[in-house]
Amino acid sequence: MTTRPTPLPLADLTRLHDEILDWFGRTARDLPWRRNVSPWAVMVSEFMLQQTPVSRVLPVYEAWIERWSTPAALAAAPSGEAVRAWGRLGYPRRALRLHAAATAIVERHGGEVPSALDELLALPGVGAYTAAAVSSFAFAGREAVLDTNVRRVFARIIAGEQFPPAAVTTAERDLATALLPVRDAHRWAAATMELGALVCTARSPRCDECPVADLCRWRAAGYPAYDGPARRGQAWHGTDRQCRGRLMAVLRDAPGPVPKSALDLVWADAPQRERALDGLVADGLVEPLPGETYALPT
Ligand code: SF4
Repeated sequence: MTTRPTPLPLADLTRLHDEILDWFGRTARDLPWRRNVSPWAVMVSEFMLQQTPVSRVLPVYEAWIERWSTPAALAAAPSGEAVRAWGRLGYPRRALRLHAAATAIVERHGGEVPSALDELLALPGVGAYTAAAVSSFAFAGREAVLDTNVRRVFARIIAGEQFPPAAVTTAERDLATALLPVRDAHRWAAATMELGALVCTARSPRCDECPVADLCRWRAAGYPAYDGPARRGQAWHGTDRQCRGRLMAVLRDAPGPVPKSALDLVWADAPQRERALDGLVADGLVEPLPGETYALPT
């Protein structure tokens, strides 16, 4: 969506809002971070959900909030404990960033998650998406919250394209802002996200269950195939990411420092293993210790 799609007529825009918000009211999943939880709990969920599906996030989120119910509680723990508790969610740098965000919240905001967008954006690890999501879901802010699901829904309904561009464009951001309803913008953010997650999925959209099927330009155009640049796959097997995951699992499961020889056992390709280990050390996820041993950070 690099070019600007034709805006919807006002009557259709009103119907789009009403239909999607009604559908959400009827079908929204009861997820723990959607209950009456603290802004901190919302922030934790957003860090976890960025690159990990809901089903995998749920148990880790519950345990995390039980253990660290406030930013101060997390900030008081060693960052390595945050990495350990992150478990198998993947992309464990998010755990370090969440720990750093908690520390900054304690230092700058007296332990309370700030509500102002610029203060959220100034926290470590908080980018445009997370700031908008926390503002919207924790403080009922009126922000365009553009995650993968929302971007796909808008690309289909408004731009008539199967998929959005690889990275968020200004045109998409402007469109999402123009689509915000005057009231209930925070529910709109959650509802469009839910529509993309449950109905307008990437591979097999369930248009017969879609509350706005008759407004969808991609459907009306006969589902033209995506013809943009190649989309990034999510390769895993044999990748550095998989190797890093194996090394991290050994370190997470060990009560103390691990000898290098134990790490060598979990990945056969030595150059790739060394590269992955160096990367984990450079990212601050692993500490090299005397005697060729390694541990999670303290
Ligand atoms: S009609 Fe189909 S493609 Fe269009 S928004 Fe609904 S589910 Fe997605």
